[in-house]
Amino acid sequence: MSQADLHTHTTASDGLHRPADNVRMAKEAGLGGIAITDHDTVAGIEEALREGEKLGIAVVPGVEISTAYEGTEIHVLGYYMNVEDPVFLARLADQRKVRDARNEGILARLGELGIQVSMEELREIAGRSESPEETIGRPHIADALVRRGVVGTIQEAFDRYLAKGRAAYVDPPPRITPMEAYRWIKEAGGAAIVAHPGLYRREELAPVLLDGGADGVEAYHSDHSPEQEERYRQLAIARGKIVTGGSDFHGARKGGVYHGPIGNRTVEMSVLEQLRSAARR
Ligand code: AMP
Ligand code: FE
Ligand code: FE
Ligand code: ZN
Repeated sequence: MSQADLHTHTTASDGLHRPADNVRMAKEAGLGGIAITDHDTVAGIEEALREGEKLGIAVVPGVEISTAYEGTEIHVLGYYMNVEDPVFLARLADQRKVRDARNEGILARLGELGIQVSMEELREIAGRSESPEETIGRPHIADALVRRGVVGTIQEAFDRYLAKGRAAYVDPPPRITPMEAYRWIKEAGGAAIVAHPGLYRREELAPVLLDGGADGVEAYHSDHSPEQEERYRQLAIARGKIVTGGSDFHGARKGGVYHGPIGNRTVEMSVLEQLRSAARR
């Protein structure tokens, strides 16, 4: 019970399990804490908090905001924001509009390639009726391509169609910068963390993003190598910043648990207190 997984997704975005299920899985994995960090939404937090109270698991309210820096998509994690802050909620709603426009763009590109997928189908795949607070993402589009037999796996859907530069990739409408996301999170009373720097394929960015006003960096991530984890840890320590980590669990889609099972990467429970005190500053 001394460890926490600070990065998991739920059905509120592109995860496959309900928020309460993530909390239950954290308990089964022997963890003491879990963060819910859905893409551009905090719609899953309340359910998770309730389950956490029932099971005696510390649930950290979180979010993962999509931003862009010099053309590279950068994810920013926020922890311990006031998830009822009206300004913060309005900002996330704007993010979801950008995301929806991007999704429409991808569907239009697929249409040009002779693959008809509708927003309605994506909503059905995501298991939701018109819910403006939950987000639809590329994994749902990948699911649709697998269902059609256009591709065999989710990975193939990204490699051929959905990853940056591939056949149906569409540059999102102007995204906010990571620094703006830090500000949003801080103004809502939270702590801002640079998510998985190892996934951006630009190693020079990690210190720049960290020095741009983040409270810490996600050194431990399911797709980081031991060398990367050590490097990012040192980077944060040298600056007196917080070192976080998590699995980035989304659940098992065709072809594996993406990015890893709950508890695949964890930090000491004491990191929760570090995040809380950074959030208070
Ligand atoms: P979006 O937020 O809609 O731009 O979609 C990005 C999400 O797609 C990430 O958060 C991952 O969950 C997922 N993703 C990205 N690349 C892959 C991949 N190769 N295989 C499976 N899922 C992926
Ligand atoms: Fe995701
Ligand atoms: Fe991410
Ligand atoms: Zn994530």
